[in-house]
Amino acid sequence: MVPVLLLNEQTSGRDRTGRLAVELRRGGGWLAFWLTVSIVSVGVYTVSLIVVERPASGYLTLWDGWVSAAAAFSPVSLMVLRARLGGPRRTVWLLLAAGATSYAVANLIYLLHDQNQTPIPNPGPNDIPYLLCYLTFVLAALLMWYKSAQNSRRSSYLDGAIAGLSLASVAAAMFFRPTVDVSGDALLVAVNLAYPSLDLLLIIALIAGLAPLRYQPNWSVATMTMAMSIMLAGDIIYITRIANGTYVAGSPLEASWAVGILLIGVSAWVPTTARRSRPVDESASTMALPAIFAVFALAILALAPFREMPTIASVLAVGAISLVLARVLFAVRELRHAATSHREARTDELTGLANRRAFLEQLDQRLGDGRPTAVLLIDLNGFKEVNDTLGHDVGDELLRMVARRIRPVLGGAGLLARLGGDEFGAFVDPVERPGRDLAEAVAASLHEAFDLSDMLIQISASTGVSLAPEHSRQRSELLRFADVAMYQAKRRQQPVTLYDPTDDPHSRDQLALVGDLQQAIAAGALIVHYQPLLDLRTGRLSGVEALARWQHPTRGLMMPDQFIWVAERAGIIPQLTKVMMSLAFRQVHTLERDHPDLGLSVNISGHDLLDERFPDVVRGLLTIHDFNPRRLTLEITETALVADPVRAETSIASLRRLGVRVAVDDFGVGYSSLTQLTGLTVDALKIDKSFIQSLDHDPRITAVVRATVELARALDLHVAAEGVETATALSIIRDLGCHTGQGNYIGLPMPLEDLREMLASQRDDRNNDAPLVATG
Ligand code: C2E
Ligand code: MG
Ligand code: MG
Repeated sequence: MVPVLLLNEQTSGRDRTGRLAVELRRGGGWLAFWLTVSIVSVGVYTVSLIVVERPASGYLTLWDGWVSAAAAFSPVSLMVLRARLGGPRRTVWLLLAAGATSYAVANLIYLLHDQNQTPIPNPGPNDIPYLLCYLTFVLAALLMWYKSAQNSRRSSYLDGAIAGLSLASVAAAMFFRPTVDVSGDALLVAVNLAYPSLDLLLIIALIAGLAPLRYQPNWSVATMTMAMSIMLAGDIIYITRIANGTYVAGSPLEASWAVGILLIGVSAWVPTTARRSRPVDESASTMALPAIFAVFALAILALAPFREMPTIASVLAVGAISLVLARVLFAVRELRHAATSHREARTDELTGLANRRAFLEQLDQRLGDGRPTAVLLIDLNGFKEVNDTLGHDVGDELLRMVARRIRPVLGGAGLLARLGGDEFGAFVDPVERPGRDLAEAVAASLHEAFDLSDMLIQISASTGVSLAPEHSRQRSELLRFADVAMYQAKRRQQPVTLYDPTDDPHSRDQLALVGDLQQAIAAGALIVHYQPLLDLRTGRLSGVEALARWQHPTRGLMMPDQFIWVAERAGIIPQLTKVMMSLAFRQVHTLERDHPDLGLSVNISGHDLLDERFPDVVRGLLTIHDFNPRRLTLEITETALVADPVRAETSIASLRRLGVRVAVDDFGVGYSSLTQLTGLTVDALKIDKSFIQSLDHDPRITAVVRATVELARALDLHVAAEGVETATALSIIRDLGCHTGQGNYIGLPMPLEDLREMLASQRDDRNNDAPLVATG
């Protein structure tokens, strides 16, 4: 924006005429009156200079006395009226009014001294107010410059001074040569020097004042500059004519001062509307104008030895060039500063990688070029725990180490950035380096433990990948898709997942699915399947685990893997858990008569555990269904415990106070370690099926499971093993000391009716004491 020079408001070009009307109204009737008087008197005086013939002295009392005095005095009122309105430029207007008054007083002295009798002495009494007039004008121009430069950068002061000095140097060289003749009466010399010097100062101040405005002044400033330029031109011609001995009084040249002062008065009421609304270029290229002015100054210095010119011209030129040098240094500093802040604004302080801003900018650029792109969102698993337990310093160091590991994996391809927290982002050309490939390499680079504050820390990453143009060409969508994929990777405990719209909770399909699921939950239309839990000591069925199924109207029977996370993301998991518990309590209750001790396990989500009302919900349901809390086990996954250990602990304690048992499900695949178990107040541990499935062919896994069972038993925990698919696995877990087994070999998840039959056959077998499954 062009800084406002004269008035505090800036109006758009559209309401320019309306604005002038407003100004006139603001000035009141007096403004219109004085404007008319000023224009008429200056006009009449000017015309008289052309039309009315003057005597040899060049002086006619009526015209050069009275009319000229009226022309000089009347514009003063325009400035005074403007100053009375106040505003930030009030002082400027007062100074100008004072200057114009001095000028008018000088004219008055001239009038009172009848030129036709004796010519006024040179220097005479009128020289004092004349010089005062110039002095105040220079002060006003400097003040304007100062005020307008306040809104712009500091370099604009320099730019202005350079421009002013070099143009003044040119003017001095061209026009002031003959006058600056330092001989004769000292006072005469001083006065003769004072006029051109003040002229030069006014040139400097005027030109300098335009620099902060990028030489695009508003209408008011433009009018004032024009007014002073007319006066300066008059002075220069006058000085030249005096020097050449060709000056005659009463010529049209005299009008230049009257017109100049009138225009200053008018400029007070010209709106400060910008003439052009070109945005101001704040870049370093603004060195162009100082450079052009420097050429003028250099030209003067180069010509000085060959042409007769006043020393002041060279002095001004040297001044201009010194300032140009200062300006160059200033620009270099500004540039360096800009470069540093540009770099700093795009670098992540902690890791030295690109930051989010740089990442987004460069990604935008790449997508704008239409280049194929794989976008990766890399999120660390287990970082929060490190940060929370070992402190932020260790967390920060870990992030730095992770960055150092990942960076070489990417090599020179694409860009790696830290987006915030423990989240990194990367993009590459998928043709050069497939996104999945890269993500796997990133995961592999983290395999080796990190050596931190005397301990080894193991951390992993889950990466989501989205592709342009396949998935989208838009940055925001690509990032969201990569985020969805990352979430899926975490959920599935995979190192990397490529975006798949059917996994996206916000894709149209998934939104519809959320709606359907909401309806099904509200209608209690979920299905519960029961998977038998085998007591390994007795070989008999000790309980069942309730597993959710959903008969979707068009998609068929859906498994929990397909909809539990949808419910979690849509925030409807509390309702789902409630429905599942109600259904299971009611259905298992129907088996009560024959199997009063049959245990029931229900899975709950991490979200349930973090909900303070959850224990009350469970209590309410147990009461409504008259279900013995001792028969109920709630299974929670490790991830739920890790997310907010403190809240989880409180919830678990409240649940256990109800008499309900709590088990950690899928133990071993999450992030909690065996040692963390010691602080855990749960009743049971369920070793994840991935271990049990490998038992019969991987002796190392057997060792891990053995250690786990031993520790759990030492902690007095009940140990269950899920995923028992073979007789071998069953016998191994029994030998290792597990209490309970669960798996397809023992029994698949089944509807209530099948369970009833299975239980009936077990009861019938009880007579011959045969176990449910032969265990060894
Ligand atoms: P989970 O709680 O670990 O349940 C055991 C899962 O392993 C079940 O899968 C079961 O069918 C499967 N499974 C059991 N034995 C074997 C075996 O020998 N081999 C193989 N390959 N699989 C076996 P399902 O029913 O698909 O459930 C998956 C997960 O969904 C559950 O894992 C549980 O975390 C979650 N889930 C199920 N129902 C609910 C529910 O009502 N609420 C919540 N929040 N989550 C549920
Ligand atoms: Mg379970
Ligand atoms: Mg499990």
